[in-house]
Amino acid sequence: MLETVSKGFRSAKNRLAGKTEITPELVDESLRDIRISLLEADVAFDVVKKFVARIREKAIGEVVALTTTDKQGRKIRVSPGDHFIKVCHDELESLMGPVDTSLKLNGKDQTSGIMMVGLQGSGKTTTVGKLASKLSKEGRKPLLIAADIYRPAAVDQLKVLGERVGVPVYFEPDLQPPELAKRGYAAARQQGRDVVIIDTAGRLAIDEELMQELEAIKAAVAPDNILLVCDAMIGQDSVRTAAEFDRRLNLDGFILTKLDGDARGGAALSIKEVTGKPIKFLGMGESLDRLEEFRPSGLA
Ligand code: GDP
Repeated sequence: MLETVSKGFRSAKNRLAGKTEITPELVDESLRDIRISLLEADVAFDVVKKFVARIREKAIGEVVALTTTDKQGRKIRVSPGDHFIKVCHDELESLMGPVDTSLKLNGKDQTSGIMMVGLQGSGKTTTVGKLASKLSKEGRKPLLIAADIYRPAAVDQLKVLGERVGVPVYFEPDLQPPELAKRGYAAARQQGRDVVIIDTAGRLAIDEELMQELEAIKAAVAPDNILLVCDAMIGQDSVRTAAEFDRRLNLDGFILTKLDGDARGGAALSIKEVTGKPIKFLGMGESLDRLEEFRPSGLA
């Protein structure tokens, strides 16, 4: 997903290969490659600026140290290029971390709640199905609450997904979403289900009415987790969306979808930096098993 970014780091590395000394000029040239590739990958401008400044400070400040300690604590000799790459690697990891892919789940004698929010088309309903499948495999018993009551198709879509992953779906017509969510919790308790996943309504863009409805659902059931599903294809817009949803709902984390497509991945690098909240999972395809935990060390 981060091909553009890798290209920048690779050319920075090549620039430094074989050099016995790193000069500030050389660092700046390398950082230029990296800056361009990050911007091309659609990472937010402010995020890029700060990131590059941090690397520059570390790379130039530590240039004299030509030995470092490896993972076992042994001293090893490093080339300036290696050192620079390590600084980049560490900064990339801290840009995307700390990693926290956990969900807040109670003991099985208590109902845990996951409220899923996101704009229309972000992949929210699909991701509800993926999460239900994942939790079922982990020995949980999810129940899905169809609280997107405005589009009849959304309720039907969720019922189809529920059937495919073998998980019951709660829906009752003529109820407002907060009341529907409450009754969904009650239904879960009655049916011995230990996790509810609430599929909420989306809009094409953020609007006040939607935010108020989501706040009302949150107030009604106090879900243990509120996760925003974000379409990685929309790039910087997803970062703005993430920041606004977080401001209104105090999110626990994000799920970025459609990273199997030609999304440039920059959003993944920006969202965490801008909101301070972790990315929990990545959607890597339309089918229901394509949900992966976010592991930035691999990416870096
Ligand atoms: P909602 O309006 O947010 O509930 O979005 P949907 O769940 O209906 O998804 C919108 C479209 O995105 C559907 O065609 C999904 O199959 C597709 N989609 C969802 N997640 C992914 C993903 O991770 N990768 C790809 N390629 N498509 C996805």
